[in-house]
Amino acid sequence: MKKLLPIIGLALICLYYSCYKAPIPTKKYKTEKVIVIVMDGARYSETWGDVAKTYIPNLGTTIANSGCVNSNFYNNGPTYTSPGHLAMISGQYYNLNNAGNELPPFPTIFQYFNEAYPLKSSWIISSKDKLEVLTNTSDSTYNNLYLANTDCGNNGLGTGYRKDSITLYKALTIFQNSAPELTLINFREPDFTGHGNDWPGYLNEINKVDSLINEVFVFVNSNPNYKDKTTLFITNDHGRHDDRNGGFNNHGDSCIGCKQLMFFAIGPDFRKNTLLSSPNELIDIAPTVAELLEFDLPNSNGNVMTNLFEN
Ligand SMILES: [Zn+2]
Ligand SMILES: [Zn+2]
Repeated sequence: MKKLLPIIGLALICLYYSCYKAPIPTKKYKTEKVIVIVMDGARYSETWGDVAKTYIPNLGTTIANSGCVNSNFYNNGPTYTSPGHLAMISGQYYNLNNAGNELPPFPTIFQYFNEAYPLKSSWIISSKDKLEVLTNTSDSTYNNLYLANTDCGNNGLGTGYRKDSITLYKALTIFQNSAPELTLINFREPDFTGHGNDWPGYLNEINKVDSLINEVFVFVNSNPNYKDKTTLFITNDHGRHDDRNGGFNNHGDSCIGCKQLMFFAIGPDFRKNTLLSSPNELIDIAPTVAELLEFDLPNSNGNVMTNLFEN
């Protein structure tokens, strides 16, 4: 019997390991999908900076109460459309050509996300065709690899801008059909009417984009693929000159009007009904997205916005 004991012991150890299953790694966060929405070129003074929230009734009430607002949020880099979007999705400021003629010199969260999760999908959906360049990079390691799907402008790069209502329709259709995990949406009309020096039109378009964003918000809260597992970031790529520095019809310098942005973040991992005033900036969005969706974002200069998270 004594001779059998080591054999029985060994058999028991083998049985234990054959039954043992490695634990399935648990996700750190409830967020499974992220949508970044840009209201192009709206000034802080007509959005969150307006105490009455006259032109953003949806963002200013229902949406703000559902998540976090930061009243100290800035674009500290070039205050133009393409560099602003690039900063928010890469975590780096770079003065990218603003006409769609240059690929970013480094990858964004889209390429890193697609590399990390080949079975998941990502989209850039934009009223401005020129933002299609953000899907790719001139970096030789990542050029033409891990590209996001795009639906930009009338029919891609070089085809011109389209109405924001069409962009909303396209976004909701894509959400219904393929439920992507990572999406950037650009609504362009506030910037466009601002450049036209059309003050009533500019205010009206901010108001319209507020209602388009609300449609995304309502969809996310009712669709089973998105409900309770989606984080939304809502911001601007840049503001516009404040009245002492040229006024609302243009932008592009470092006056406070151009730099200060509205910022809303809503998601299952974030605090509710919270007003933050510690400063954050556009390049902090990319590392926060990477943290939530759990992939590596090398070379970001931004910080994860830990002040958004519950606990
Ligand atoms: Zn502009
Ligand atoms: Zn300015």
